[in-house]
Amino acid sequence: MQNNSNLKKINADIVIAGTGVAGMYAALSLPEDKNIIMITKSTAEESDSFLAQGGICMLKNDNDYDSYYEDTMRAGHYENNPEAVDIMIRSSQDTIRELIGYGVDFKHNENGSLAFTREGAHSTSRILFHEDITGKEISSKLLAQVRNRSNITIMENTTMLDIIEKDNTCYGIIAAGENDTLYAITAPYTLWACGGIGGLYTHSTNYRQLTGDALAIALNHNIELEHPDYIQIHPTTLYSSKPGRRFLISESVRGEGAVLLNEKGERFTDELQPRDVVAAAIFNEMEKENSNHVWLSLAPIDEAVIQNHFPNIYEHCLEEGYDVTKEPIPVVPAQHYFMGGVKVNMKSKTTMNNLYAAGETSCNGVHGANRLASNSLLESLVFAKRAVNDMDFDNTLQCPDFIIDNINTSLYTNKEEIAANYRESVLNEIERAKNETNAKKSA
Ligand SMILES: Cc1cc2nc3c(=O)[nH]c(=O)nc-3n(C[C@H](O)[C@H](O)[C@H](O)COP(=O)(O)OP(=O)(O)OC[C@H]3O[C@@H](n4cnc5c(N)ncnc54)[C@H](O)[C@@H]3O)c2cc1C
Repeated sequence: MQNNSNLKKINADIVIAGTGVAGMYAALSLPEDKNIIMITKSTAEESDSFLAQGGICMLKNDNDYDSYYEDTMRAGHYENNPEAVDIMIRSSQDTIRELIGYGVDFKHNENGSLAFTREGAHSTSRILFHEDITGKEISSKLLAQVRNRSNITIMENTTMLDIIEKDNTCYGIIAAGENDTLYAITAPYTLWACGGIGGLYTHSTNYRQLTGDALAIALNHNIELEHPDYIQIHPTTLYSSKPGRRFLISESVRGEGAVLLNEKGERFTDELQPRDVVAAAIFNEMEKENSNHVWLSLAPIDEAVIQNHFPNIYEHCLEEGYDVTKEPIPVVPAQHYFMGGVKVNMKSKTTMNNLYAAGETSCNGVHGANRLASNSLLESLVFAKRAVNDMDFDNTLQCPDFIIDNINTSLYTNKEEIAANYRESVLNEIERAKNETNAKKSA
């Protein structure tokens, strides 16, 4: 038996690591008599979900099903899981209805109908939006609901360091909170909703704290991953030589007509192709011109549309010294999204008993090898709900005392060392998977 006197024990019905849209929507979809603990590495407002600009897809009507399905599959190079794509599309209208019920305000046309915009690789307008801060609109409304629920506790600045596991069953998580408090949070069900991996990269649009911790923990506990090398590079982020998160210039800017230009002011690609194709064209042009960026001109977009639809982009570029209504802006591709992740089935269950994963941290195959723009908020919501719907609360799984008694707390004292080890292990796994994929391609 270890000396565990410094371990603070909490028992819950479910513990959720992550307070982005996946974590919050899952919590709100659970019965209100369940005791839910949510933890987040920083504050609840600092998740990628708050950053989403472009919007969220919805099946407009039955006639759009085939086209939406085909756009998703084509963008994913037909490596998508067809069942996951079907589930996501067919669940979209209910999900949006529920978001509106939670108070989310999407743009409406003058006649009161929902307004749709278009983004790269979509063959029609099917994206709902709120200016260019759709993620903030959705996430802040969900967060307000979560904060209103007395059965949900959010522990901020609390980092999951490990899971509590025995014989391939998950009993909860070990987390480090404020003032270096170490927690053992036990629950019959654990949900990983830990977002992406952008914090592992120098140039990324993601929050820096998103470092794929769930993947490292999965590797340590023999939980299967899927396609850890499927990483999306966003074609257009505002070029900057400063360190930190890159500012995204949403796909819908190109959807509304913005064009990519080289140093000579010439267009060099079709801006509405899938992200990976556009990013490759930009890298190619940068190499040809020996330049560290290309240009994006918003001149084809009406100034009123820029001000109304993209006020956040307009303001941010102004702060960086560019008036998008008057001049092109320098843009460069950056790490943006993680299509791979912790392998889950259609009910978001991982290969470990009682452990679920949803949102960007998971991989159910919906995006294939490349995500279609504005499918990820939707996918996160749809599959987070499927996770909680699969949980059987007649299950009263209790963590046996001896498991807690045997937790070796000395393994968790050096958080920096743990973070460095996790980082190395995830990057190595990505590299290994990349080599394996390349070998298969050339075989
Ligand atoms: C700039 C930008 C623009 C985007 N635009 C769009 C868009 O227009 N449409 C669209 O569909 N998608 C968009 N995306 C993608 C989309 O925002 C994300 O894929 C989605 O929000 C992921 O939600 P999530 O809940 O899985 O993760 P996140 O919202 O990233 O939340 C992850 C949570 O996990 C927590 N966490 C991580 N590790 C730990 C740990 N070890 N312990 C405790 N907590 C942890 C974090 O603190 C955070 O609370 C955009 C992404 C970015 C970065």
